[in-house]
Amino acid sequence: MNRWRTTTLAVLTSLAVLLTSFGSAGLAADPGLPKYILIMFADGAGPGTFELGRLYHKEVLRKGFITTDTIMAAGNLGLMIHTCADALVCDSAAAATAMFTGFKTNTGMIGVTPNKQPVRNLAEVAKARGYRIGLVSTDAVWDATPGAFSAHAESRRDAPSIAEQYVALEPTIVLGGGRGAFLPKAAGGERADGRDLLAELRARGYSVITTGDELRKVAGGKVFGLFDTGGLSLDLDKDPEEPSYAEMVAAVLRVMKSGQGKFIAMLENENTDAATHDNDLPSTLAALEEFERGVRLAYGFYLAHPKETLLIVTSDHDTGAPGLTYAQRSLSHTASADRVYPTAAHLAMARVARTSVNTASARLGARPTAADLARVMSESYPGLVMHDRYQQHILRNEMVNPALARRIRQGAFGLMLGQYTLVYWGSTGHTSIPVPVAAIGVGAERFRGYMDNTKFAHTLFDLMGGR
Ligand SMILES: [Zn+2]
Repeated sequence: MNRWRTTTLAVLTSLAVLLTSFGSAGLAADPGLPKYILIMFADGAGPGTFELGRLYHKEVLRKGFITTDTIMAAGNLGLMIHTCADALVCDSAAAATAMFTGFKTNTGMIGVTPNKQPVRNLAEVAKARGYRIGLVSTDAVWDATPGAFSAHAESRRDAPSIAEQYVALEPTIVLGGGRGAFLPKAAGGERADGRDLLAELRARGYSVITTGDELRKVAGGKVFGLFDTGGLSLDLDKDPEEPSYAEMVAAVLRVMKSGQGKFIAMLENENTDAATHDNDLPSTLAALEEFERGVRLAYGFYLAHPKETLLIVTSDHDTGAPGLTYAQRSLSHTASADRVYPTAAHLAMARVARTSVNTASARLGARPTAADLARVMSESYPGLVMHDRYQQHILRNEMVNPALARRIRQGAFGLMLGQYTLVYWGSTGHTSIPVPVAAIGVGAERFRGYMDNTKFAHTLFDLMGGR
């Protein structure tokens, strides 16, 4: 290195030190930075899904929906696009990696660039900046969204590695499913390396819990709650042993309030995504009701600490492109006079469902007959009838259309429910529809406008005092 370069480097280094010290001095004094950050995350919920939640609450349940009525209406509203490095529509892993690291990556990758380089995520920046970390998912805690928030993996399927990274990160509280990835095969888990991560967590001072009852008693300390070996159940099929999403949100707020200092919490309801993948309107509405209960708790926290809190309601991508639409009275009525326009009574028909579409599909067995289908219809949707044409999709295992290909039964149940509710779906997969980002509180104005999902990470890095 020549003298000129050495001198330049020295000047730049001292400038950087100066800027860094200004930065940290600013961190302590700057009222523009939030002390508490709550990210309410409805996986797979696009604007159409949130609007179904609003309409269902207002028109059927006859109550407010603060997710839209307050957070989106009174807060700052943005629309976020979610393309990734290798596709225009991608999965939750690539979408969450962009939102939580600021880097676009390929489908299926967690917290790494397309050439497999790990990049800093929100949890790592939060830890470096002195924030306590809280994580919730109704799915496995190592799944794509919480995984990309806190870990790095070339494949989202590498659950054992993501689970290990949680132990090293030492978050204050983690709640959800996915216990199998924390236990060795000998103890009924999935780990081939023989490690018992739950024992390691206990040795580090964590309360490790597995039931909703235990969660309700949690008052503070460090907590790891894993309530199922895999994901938690859908709301219509609720396992009474498992806590609800809102109970997990309440526990995170309780634990954070019992301790000291700053925190960031990423609180994911993944059931909105699972239900929309199944074109399951009743389960989607049930998941939105549960999400709303969580948002109400978070909003209550914000109201108690308005000058210190940033509350965000968002999603990672749209799933299913659902919406109410006018449609023909039946498959055999083509005249425009037979067009039906949606009303509250149509949407209220979703309340007939006794199980999720997923459960109804599973109860059909491997090779269902018309009698099997009639039995499942009466168990899951008493009083409703599936049109012959939709029955044939199920009985012959025939695709409804290429966008509903992967889930033939779910697609057919979705069309059957559409005839009663007038909610129809564009896909059983993810779509390109941008998703809302609504923010209220400290720094919220920075989430306004039409934005790329990488901006979400960069804005939060700035609001935590820099990457
Ligand atoms: Zn997702």
